Order: sequence, then C-alpha cells, then structure tokens
Amino acid sequence: MSFNLDKLIRPSVKNLKPYASARHEFTGEAEVFLDANENSFGSPADEVLHRYPDPYQTDLRLKLAEYKGVNPENIFFGNGSDEPIDLLMRAFCRPEMDNIITQPPTYSMYGICAAVNEVEDKKVLLHADFQPNVPALKTAVNENTRLLFFCSPNNPSGNLMKREAIIELLEMQKFIVVVDEAYIDFSDEPSFIHDIEKYPNLAVMQTFSKAWGLAAARLGVLYADKNIIQVLNKIKPPYNISLNTQNSGLKALAAKDVALAKLQQIKEQRTFLQTELVKIPQVKHIYPADANFLLVRFPDADKLYAYLTSKGIVVRNRSKEIHCDNCLRITVGTEDENQRLINELARYFSGFINK
Ligand SMILES: *Cc1c(COP(=O)(O)O)cnc(C)c1O
Repeated sequence: MSFNLDKLIRPSVKNLKPYASARHEFTGEAEVFLDANENSFGSPADEVLHRYPDPYQTDLRLKLAEYKGVNPENIFFGNGSDEPIDLLMRAFCRPEMDNIITQPPTYSMYGICAAVNEVEDKKVLLHADFQPNVPALKTAVNENTRLLFFCSPNNPSGNLMKREAIIELLEMQKFIVVVDEAYIDFSDEPSFIHDIEKYPNLAVMQTFSKAWGLAAARLGVLYADKNIIQVLNKIKPPYNISLNTQNSGLKALAAKDVALAKLQQIKEQRTFLQTELVKIPQVKHIYPADANFLLVRFPDADKLYAYLTSKGIVVRNRSKEIHCDNCLRITVGTEDENQRLINELARYFSGFINK
C-alpha cells in the first residue's frame, strides 16, 4: 500500500485557485514598486516596514533548512504553531464528515481547532504512563480519519512518546500523522524531522516559542513532504509571517550558540528542580521530563496552587486533566525563580498538618 495525499485533500481546496498577491506575481528585478498599494513615503515607525514581507520567508527558510539539515521545500512557517494546526484541519478535514484523533491528556489546541472547524475529535486516551494506546488508536481510525496527533514530548506530561508507536501508525499510510515537537530541543532523543523523507504522510511541528525564546514573535514551523507543504501554501494567508518575525527568527538562528547555552542552563535547572522536589516528603510523584517543565503530583493541588498564587508564583493547575489528579505543571525558570518556588513549597509543607 502506498500513501495517496490527493485523496485526503478537501475537494474545495483541491479546486481552489489561490489568491495571487502582488509580490507573488512579480518575481523579476525592479526599482519602482507601484504594484501593492503600499505607502511609498515610508512608515512613521522607526523600522522599514512599509513594504509587504516575503510571503515564502525565503531567507529564513534557507537558514533554517541549513541549520536543521533539511530541504527548504519541506519547511512551512506559521503564525505560531496554532496556524499550521488550523491550516491542516482546513486543508484535509471536511466539516461534519471527517475526523481527527487526539490523545488526551494533551495540548488542547488540536481539539479546539477541530471544534471550530466542525471536525470530529476522536479521543484515544494515553495510558496512565502517558504512552500511546496503539491498539486503541488502530481501532479508532476509520476511512474518514485525516489527522492523527502525537504530542512528543507531550504537554502536560512532559514525556516523549515511544518511537515505535508513532512509526506503527505512520505505516498505516492512510492519514497524516502530526508529531508536535514543540519541546523536542529539551530532549536528548532525535527529532522526527528526518523521517519526512521516508514518510509522505508525516508532518512534524516545531516552534520558536520555547527553546528559541521567541514566544512573542509567533513563529511556528511545520516540516513535511513537499506535497503537504504545497497544500498549506495554497490556503495560507499570503503574508502570514511579519517582517519583524522573520527577522527575529533570523537573529535567533545567527545566535544559535547563545540559544544552546541557554538550553543547557534550562536542562541544569530542570535537574535542580527535580533534585529539590524529591527532598520534599509531601511531593507524591515527579514525572520524567523531556521538556522544559515538570508535571508534579501533590497531596492537594488546588490548595497549593492557590497558596503559590497568593505568593505571586503562578504555575499551571492540570489536576482536572485525565491521569493528572492533583498535578501541577511547573515550567523550569531561572535559578532565582526556581529557588523562590522551592522556598515557598518548603514553607507551605512545613506547616502542612494545619493546611
Ligand atoms: C507551546 C506549545 C506549542 C507552541 O505554540 P506556538 O503557537 O508556536 O507558540 C505547540 N504545541 C505544544 C504542545 C505546546 O505546548
């Protein structure tokens, strides 16, 4: 059996003649730009922002391709990761007809995007150790399944998904397997981006929001076979990545050594937090982490959450999520931030009997 992407594309998208912007249509050399109704007198803001940006982010694409060792035509940039998630949904899922599969507890945007697009979200729960339930996934799949999401490392649990599980679903070759690797840089295991050569039904999402520290810039990346990328390019808003954002991405890549040093610090601080948390007898469980956060089980997460908030420390209360009873998700901060958290926990639990 071989994968047929064409069969998965919504007919409306397949038949679509995409919007051709001024900068799409003209590709030669020119000095006088009177084609796009821009303000030729420039902007009152400091930066040179009066021209529309490159719709295909060529400079950034080439630099990222070189850094990652992938082909530039296998890269798609989104306004955060949320944009590619939504575009995948709109390109491949017919409303009220097709379905996606997600694996709770996981990132909620997949389900939200599906709901907005009136696409069924078939939920197949992860096991209690947050690994995929492969037989249940295979049972859930049907002829209308278009996208299957693996979040690896998973949010909120922090663990990497077993590679063989992802491969097993990829090899079915009937739908697109999306591997969300927002946190992969914090893991020591390899990314799936080099597997796109082998699997035309694989889409790997990464982001500049976490390891690259550019959450405010909104820059998500999707790596996939060029046929998938072409479909996304066809339906994306023409200028989806601002010039400021493209430049921020370029600056980050140019300073990759600084980024790697910070990454190393985050990993050290993750170990520090783990070491300190283990010493607190009331801490019930610290889940293994391949990400820049820890999922930690406490005796009463709601009360502790309220206490920490009252002390000006905000963590994420995930205790209502499946398999996450009494769990808080704690982002690894700076040394100072982490020490303040640990101090507050120590203070809180020293008077625990009265709480
Ligand atoms: C943070 C995060 C993202 C990144 O989202 P952006 O829109 O790129 O900021 C993607 N997936 C998961 C699971 C995340 O936790």
